[in-house]
Amino acid sequence: MTVKTTGIVLGQTPLSSRDRKLTLLTSDLGLIDVIAKGQKGGKNRYAAATEVLAYSEFCLFRGKTFYIVDAADLENNFFGLRQDLTALSLAGYFCELCRFVLPTAENGGDCLRLLLNTLYLLEQKKRSPAFLKAVFELRLLTLCGFAPDTGFCAFCGEEEGDGWYFLPAEGQLCCARCGTTLDGETLKMPLSPSIRTAITHITTVPDRRVFSFRLSPQGEAQLGLAAEAFALYHLGGRFPALDFYKTMAEPPASLPNLRKVPTNDTSQICQNPGTGQDPAPAG
Ligand SMILES: [Zn+2]
Repeated sequence: MTVKTTGIVLGQTPLSSRDRKLTLLTSDLGLIDVIAKGQKGGKNRYAAATEVLAYSEFCLFRGKTFYIVDAADLENNFFGLRQDLTALSLAGYFCELCRFVLPTAENGGDCLRLLLNTLYLLEQKKRSPAFLKAVFELRLLTLCGFAPDTGFCAFCGEEEGDGWYFLPAEGQLCCARCGTTLDGETLKMPLSPSIRTAITHITTVPDRRVFSFRLSPQGEAQLGLAAEAFALYHLGGRFPALDFYKTMAEPPASLPNLRKVPTNDTSQICQNPGTGQDPAPAG
């Protein structure tokens, strides 16, 4: 019995000089392991389609334990990412996150679309690595059922205000007034109204609009701190590719002071009206 699906290679392990085990994120089957068998003489027919980050249409044969690649037709190998070590290391982190959250047949297609669109924007340099990292972290967790709640203060219910804290462990907001009553143990991160709007946008809009806004470098830095803290707290994993990316990426120009609630700053976010998302390799 064979099944057709599209998917991207998140990782590969050599099983012998000829055969490889691939971890695929697919549109129909979620996260699966498949075997790509080589030919006599050591050459693998599907070498191009079985590289990490290769996106292909696969025809899979169901074996006893694993699917076996029956045919693979390469659609995009994100060649441009391989020329840029910072972008490549960030792409590696995205792959690690996708493997960690174990996408299912239900949400695998959405996770795959998010990954493909993010890689496309990264490869084409249409958004900064810092922007794409934060959007990817927050949106991926949203697709897996972990969206932060940014509608109101978790303590007093206040919905409007100029100064906020983000509580990554709780995935909630806290207003400036309630923030003064929190004990020193609670991890809280200042959040300007514009970054609160950005988080709400990332976690609630339809897929095609996820990337359709822009931030200043300072805004990207603040969003990045909140997104990473939220993702790492809720996933609780170790991501070697993230450590590597951080050794490659330039530090943000000026990180906000973490202990001070910023004043109302609307310069950090501007909606990108009407244009929607940039064209991407898969819809
Ligand atoms: Zn409050």
